Amino acid sequence: MRTEFLPFSLPAIAEDEIQSVVQTLRSGWLTTGPQTKRFETAFGEFVGAKHAVAVNSGTAALHLALEAIGLREGDEVLIPTMTFAATAEVVTYFKARPVLVDCEPDTLNIDPARLEDAITPRCRAVIPVHFGGHPCEMDAILAIARKYGLKVIEDAAHALPAAYRGRSVGTIGDITCFSFYATKTITTGEGGMITTDNDEYAERMRIMSLHGISKDAWKRYTAEGSWFYEVLYPGYKYNLTDIAASIGIEQLKKCRRFCDARTTIAAEYSEAFADLAELSPPVWRPEVDHAWHLYVVQLDQARLSISRSEFIEALKRAKIGTSVHFIPLHLHPYYRAEARAPMALPRATAAYERIVSLPIFPSMTPTDVGDVITTVRATINASRR
Ligand SMILES: *Cc1c(COP(=O)(O)O)cnc(C)c1O
Repeated sequence: MRTEFLPFSLPAIAEDEIQSVVQTLRSGWLTTGPQTKRFETAFGEFVGAKHAVAVNSGTAALHLALEAIGLREGDEVLIPTMTFAATAEVVTYFKARPVLVDCEPDTLNIDPARLEDAITPRCRAVIPVHFGGHPCEMDAILAIARKYGLKVIEDAAHALPAAYRGRSVGTIGDITCFSFYATKTITTGEGGMITTDNDEYAERMRIMSLHGISKDAWKRYTAEGSWFYEVLYPGYKYNLTDIAASIGIEQLKKCRRFCDARTTIAAEYSEAFADLAELSPPVWRPEVDHAWHLYVVQLDQARLSISRSEFIEALKRAKIGTSVHFIPLHLHPYYRAEARAPMALPRATAAYERIVSLPIFPSMTPTDVGDVITTVRATINASRR
């Protein structure tokens, strides 16, 4: 029995990040400046995108992406129902409508086979979410988007680093949005990044991220800057601080190493659970590089005498934190009433009853991983019908 609670997630912050922040604090430049520019350049190189625009959240990234493609009132955007609130709420900022789409039963990613049924003449874009870090079926999604003239904005909040058929996530759709929230694969506390190869989108998102002010607004207080600026559009206040960027620069250097650590944990879990008929480990299709942000198991309720909540409680009593990703959007009060769900969403509804996210973060020790495995196995063995 553990003596200390194992949290569901912990950020991997080391002395490098701390020193980097201290240096920035001592530098006299706290908000968007040289560190943010360095972070953008390093990030763009890391994923292989022409442009990278740093912002203060993944939600801001999604908002600016929809603004850049010119989303308008009355438009529709296809969204997986199996996602976090942020993916859909940004659509409502435009008085446009999120259209909820069901998931694949195994990856829990948006099901390309369900997309076409949901498309109307008002549809402008699709936002695939790479659920848990497993890239979506992008070839099928891109083909449908091309056929109907839809823009593809990827919600890659879980998918750094990841790849689909050898293509790095961040270079596939029209625009890709990343999150550096505290629980994500790399963090800046709060933060986000937008990547695109499209010059016009990049320029628009950069301008709109800082009050709609003409180029390099942040430079106006530097020696090379000027007091003069022009407001070109009514923009937003979405710029990343240099304090946050200095954390991000260090985190990005370790991004692959973090991913290797999570991949090892995922492999250990999946091997340890392989003989349990009552629990399905997450799938990993051979054509993708998985970021392993989440490790989501599905419980077979018909074979178990306990509910999903009781399973979560049993793990909690053994001092192991878990979570549920996600409560599908169509089951939340707002979206139940407002969203256009053209058909029932039976797979996401069914999956919601079955899913549990286990701890998976780079600083987990072999003992931590062993405790999760032992507890999950013991709980299942004690609850077999
Ligand atoms: C975390 C998350 C976001 C939002 O990111 P923030 O940085 O918290 O704004 C968007 N989509 C998904 C799927 C997420 O998990």
